[in-house]
Amino acid sequence: MREYIAEAEEKKIAIGHFNISNIEGFWAVVNAAKKLNLPVIIGVSEGERDFIGIKQIKALVETAKAEDLPVFLNADHTYSVERVKEVVDAGFDAVIIDGADKSFEENMKMTKEAVDYAKNKNPETIIESELGFIGKSSSVWDKAPSGTSSSEYAFTEPEEARQFVKNTGIDLFAPAVGNIHGMAKNLNINFEKLDIQRITAIREAVGVPLVLHGGSGITDEEFKSAISAGISIIHINTELRFAFRQGLQKFLFENPDELAPYKYLRSARDAMQVVVEKRLVLFNGL
Ligand SMILES: [Zn+2]
Repeated sequence: MREYIAEAEEKKIAIGHFNISNIEGFWAVVNAAKKLNLPVIIGVSEGERDFIGIKQIKALVETAKAEDLPVFLNADHTYSVERVKEVVDAGFDAVIIDGADKSFEENMKMTKEAVDYAKNKNPETIIESELGFIGKSSSVWDKAPSGTSSSEYAFTEPEEARQFVKNTGIDLFAPAVGNIHGMAKNLNINFEKLDIQRITAIREAVGVPLVLHGGSGITDEEFKSAISAGISIIHINTELRFAFRQGLQKFLFENPDELAPYKYLRSARDAMQVVVEKRLVLFNGL
């Protein structure tokens, strides 16, 4: 995974990080990656990995690796050191320790503890942390979530970011640069405006690759600018959930008597795969 990230930085492209909740999501991401012959990162939040099973998702990703596919597994937003230990022990490729809603000092202490544990137990594990706050929920809103323009969604300051990365020894850094988790119901509304200059300044300050969270709802042009400014991994979740549900609803509406899960879930999976492919094409400059 480190090699692919280094390659992405060099080529000024970004690796797609896609969250899944089940095996249909797994196939949506893996089939898209296979079709386009690109590396991908599968993300599972605490809730998502509890639903699939920690050992089970690890085993699924291993089946892709056994076929020589560059598919990697990341424990997305992990809110305690205890839960970081769980996935480091399970052999995940990467984990995000998220203390972004805590004070700078507390966030740094918690992150350092996670890094120390991983370096000791499984030094291969890539550790990411976030500074600044971009909200927690990968959901769809009718209007801008409260606090969007207030201090609740705090932008990352380059100098603080530099100190944070230096003191914790993390491998990847997730800044808050105008990105927000979740996306607007009306797809024509865009609440997110990325601060591209800030991305450049943070990348220079921290000296490690940057990850952009809350990718759903950001325009193609902004993604391109963010990637050339130094973003190497982009997270997409809400958009995939939306496509999955739309695919399922459409099929059930048209086939109200269908009972076979492998038939109605197939349309959900395929609808999700379309979005993954579209994002991979954009992120990889194809
Ligand atoms: Zn995120």
